[in-house]
Amino acid sequence: MARLFLYGTVQGVGFRPTVHRVATGLDLPGYVRNNGANVEVCIPGGEPEANDFLARLREELPPLAEVTDYDIEEGEPDGDAFVIIPSSEGPRLSIIPPDTAVCAKCMAEFHDPADRRSKHPFLNCTDCGARFSVIRDLPYDRPLTSMAPFAMCERCETEYRDPATRRFHAQTTNCPDCAPRYMLLERGGQELDGDPFAGFAARVMEGGLGVMKGWGGMHIVCLPEVADQLRERYHRPAKPFALLVRDIEAARHLADMTPGEEEVLTGHIRPIVLVHKTGTGSLEGVAPGLGNVGLMLPYTPSQMLLFEHLGVDALVFTSANLPGEPIVMTKEQALALDLDVYLLHDREIIQRADDSVLKVRGDRRFLIRRSRGVVPTPIDAGHQRSVLAVGAQLNVSTALTTGGKMFLTQYIGDSSKHPTQRFLEDSVSHFRRMFGIDTIEAVAADMHPNYSTLRIAKGWAEEEDVPLVRVQHHHAHAASLLLDAGRDEAVVMTIDGLGYGDDGVLWGGEVLASERTSYERVAHLEEVPMVGGERAVFDPRRLVWAAHHLLDRNDWPEGTASPEEDRVWSQALAGSPRTTGMGRFLDLVSVYLGFSHRMTYDGEPAMRMEPLLERGSHRPEWGFKVERTTSGRVGTLSVLSTLFDLELGSDRDRADAAYCAVDAVVSGLADSAADEAERRGVPVGVTGGVAYSLPILDMIAARVEPRGLELLLHDRIPPGDGGISSGQALVAGLGLD
Ligand SMILES: [Zn+2]
Ligand SMILES: [Zn+2]
Repeated sequence: MARLFLYGTVQGVGFRPTVHRVATGLDLPGYVRNNGANVEVCIPGGEPEANDFLARLREELPPLAEVTDYDIEEGEPDGDAFVIIPSSEGPRLSIIPPDTAVCAKCMAEFHDPADRRSKHPFLNCTDCGARFSVIRDLPYDRPLTSMAPFAMCERCETEYRDPATRRFHAQTTNCPDCAPRYMLLERGGQELDGDPFAGFAARVMEGGLGVMKGWGGMHIVCLPEVADQLRERYHRPAKPFALLVRDIEAARHLADMTPGEEEVLTGHIRPIVLVHKTGTGSLEGVAPGLGNVGLMLPYTPSQMLLFEHLGVDALVFTSANLPGEPIVMTKEQALALDLDVYLLHDREIIQRADDSVLKVRGDRRFLIRRSRGVVPTPIDAGHQRSVLAVGAQLNVSTALTTGGKMFLTQYIGDSSKHPTQRFLEDSVSHFRRMFGIDTIEAVAADMHPNYSTLRIAKGWAEEEDVPLVRVQHHHAHAASLLLDAGRDEAVVMTIDGLGYGDDGVLWGGEVLASERTSYERVAHLEEVPMVGGERAVFDPRRLVWAAHHLLDRNDWPEGTASPEEDRVWSQALAGSPRTTGMGRFLDLVSVYLGFSHRMTYDGEPAMRMEPLLERGSHRPEWGFKVERTTSGRVGTLSVLSTLFDLELGSDRDRADAAYCAVDAVVSGLADSAADEAERRGVPVGVTGGVAYSLPILDMIAARVEPRGLELLLHDRIPPGDGGISSGQALVAGLGLD
């Protein structure tokens, strides 16, 4: 007789029903039960029989399940049937599944007029549906989810108890007779009569701005044609909006996609994928000035139902929130947005989960926002300690480690705002409770003295009476890459916006010879002053002006600086903070060449230049050349001097100039990294917010790969600041040993 203990993603994914089916198929008596976070199976026979059973089980595993490890012990089943028995308390480190897009079988039921769940907006099964956003506590059973108030009807209950159905032990199962209810509200909150989906669709088709509640939050919904109204209302003059698109056919009309992009778009995470717009220009209002647009296919049956009532194939579908604040969860928060119409339901959202956003390069996926569909799936922690890391300032996600696993929370956002700070605190307590992280041994934070996350981290460190570990921003990026790639050492290009450096300079264009716990800065971009400090981020004309000033020229383009600004900035120059940031260099070039004027959202000038970098080509006659000093300085000013000397007539010229200037600087940094990597016999890595730029990654690959060096890129951890906490948690945890 044998008892099998199975570890991995084994709860909330239809695991016990599958065990039951396999065992009864083999005529085995015994039992299966959730044992804390794991699953325990008892069957007759010894170890060989248990291994045979396991092999069979692996073949039949449901799509979301994964057995990462197992133990076999002696055990004795009684009785001669195979049964699912009540859960027992056990070790808590459990894996909650992420919210998972509607599966093919459920989609078939949705479209089958004869099925009792046809067109049902809360349709789900053991393979799909909301999980992370509805689970309040473990073990994962209905009373501990936000489905608790909705008692199963008799027919659902029968299916739930019948091992032969797809909804055997499906905790969130429901049908039109026992589901939460959608309702249509007008601006003031008054409920409107009639079919809520038909009514909502009609208002949207008339050009209204609506709010729709989903699984882990709400979305603002409108026609792409009225995106401008939304911009005005929310003071988002240029920030791109994502589109929800009816199906993959409709997506192909809007974007030129690679097979890899289509695969990700239709996969079970179903994120927003940034893809190339087709040349028609019809999406200009949705993603102004950008080459990419974010597309997403329906992942909830409610989104499929909405399209049944719409005469269009694409809708603006963007997280409903006030700028900088977390995604809206409650009716009160939604009504405060004061939009035209609301499609809400009465199931509570337990945890927020914004849509994940990613970019695809060949067979690589770069997570820009790691949230719905991915969270809370853990990664290896790289150590056994329990630490908590808070990230940086923008795009925050926190990291918690325990028992060798690292959990990155959902996307939190801009931590400078109070509601976002409360969300961060709530998310951390939720994760600690869910994953049984009672004790914390260290708290990790950035070195920047003014980040809100630092204040929060200090509070936690005091409360828990544990050390506060400050980790340099770009070492955290580099460590996150090493963790992601499963390496101990690499020469890492950390190309980024800004991060507080060891020397008080704002870094962001560095080459760090990195190990998991230490680093050596071997190269960096030349420092340029940020006149007015942070203001130069939002107004990159200041960078253009400063570069001219340092080069002793005053032939800056018209509009760069008024005589008054010239005077004031000249006085401010000496006392201005300095930066080596690649992001700032890109902003400077973008604004100098007229591709953008101001930064109205994070990364805007660089993102607007990206399509030009994709189109541009080498012009050897221009003589772009980068200087590298023996101390590791990569000269940006000499490159800018060449750029400022050019007479640029056509758009083609300007694209080529952008390409040549950026390629010169990127190549200088990449060559420094490759030289050092060769010396040390380790790979070159790329991380940081600029590592999302595919043309820049191509420039780097072209310098590194022909030398036979391996290029490490991210996979499961975001290259940008959403991944910072994982690097902090790695460094802090290893530092405790
Ligand atoms: Zn399903
Ligand atoms: Zn029912």
